[in-house]
Amino acid sequence: MKSIVIPKPGEISVLERPMPAEPDKDEVIVRVKAAGICGSDLHIYHGRSAFATYPRVIGHEIAGEIYKAGSMVKDFKPGDKVAVDPVISCGECYACRIGRHNVCSSVKVLGVHVDGGYSKYIKVNAGNVHRIPDYLSWEEAAVIEPFSIAAEAVDRGRLCAGDSVLICGAGPIGLVILQAVKRVGAKAMIIDIIDSRLERAKEMGADQVVNTGKTDLEKVVMDFTNSEGVNLIFEATGSISLFELCVSRLVSQAGRIVVLGFPEEPAKIAPIDIMKRELDIVGSRLNRNKFPEVIRWLEAKDIEPSAIISHVFPMERVKEAFRLYDEEPEKVCKIILTF
Ligand code: MN
Repeated sequence: MKSIVIPKPGEISVLERPMPAEPDKDEVIVRVKAAGICGSDLHIYHGRSAFATYPRVIGHEIAGEIYKAGSMVKDFKPGDKVAVDPVISCGECYACRIGRHNVCSSVKVLGVHVDGGYSKYIKVNAGNVHRIPDYLSWEEAAVIEPFSIAAEAVDRGRLCAGDSVLICGAGPIGLVILQAVKRVGAKAMIIDIIDSRLERAKEMGADQVVNTGKTDLEKVVMDFTNSEGVNLIFEATGSISLFELCVSRLVSQAGRIVVLGFPEEPAKIAPIDIMKRELDIVGSRLNRNKFPEVIRWLEAKDIEPSAIISHVFPMERVKEAFRLYDEEPEKVCKIILTF
């Protein structure tokens, strides 16, 4: 079968590899139909991933159909349409014991720590696959994983309908969070430095879009909130100075800041800013079994998965897709590879 492999940083090849072995009793083999390209796939390609090892078959935004099911698998049969949750956990550590398996002390992600979905076939545990509605296209099904990131983030931020929300970054993650925020009717401002991304955010229902390369962010946030500050912030840019500004100036009393960006440099924040306003500053990583919830959002037409898809390429043209992602970020939102 054909797979897309990163043999070592800076190289990418479409290679012929052996089919997965027969599924164990609780495993399934999925025939991959579509898989999204994520910023983290590019990080692995460029050797900038803190987690990946090589050689690696990348891809963690995976949709396909059941090809074979193990003997004990009762819920799936060949031909069923599924999306694959890429999170693999130990089930025994503290985080797993309290139901936070997405931050398992030995968490593994398909396509990062172990081989992923950029392959004609992939074998996974049946617990990682979720049935999806038949009317969804394969491309739309492949963006269930990014929406699961949004579902986790709004859960971590305890989003409420009455909140004023600031989303930092209008890339794919900012935009799926925007859809999750507008789904409950909260008021959302989204910021970026690329106008074409902000245009897309406007079409998705953002109440205000701000190019922070051109505008004083603190002033527009205060105008947006009657000088109260925003109740809930999603920081998805990884900018240290922006994170510092969120804590010191932009967030309201009793506000929450959800951290999705992951620079390694330290930020300078004052404990008094956290204490006096009782801020919650929380991380959000991967997803904690959010696929069923996102599939319900899709069935209710609460979110528009196709709105984040900008390009579709056959898997054989992956190099071209990666070049587009790297060189023309203003044109790209989510690129889907078809298998
Ligand atoms: Mn992703």
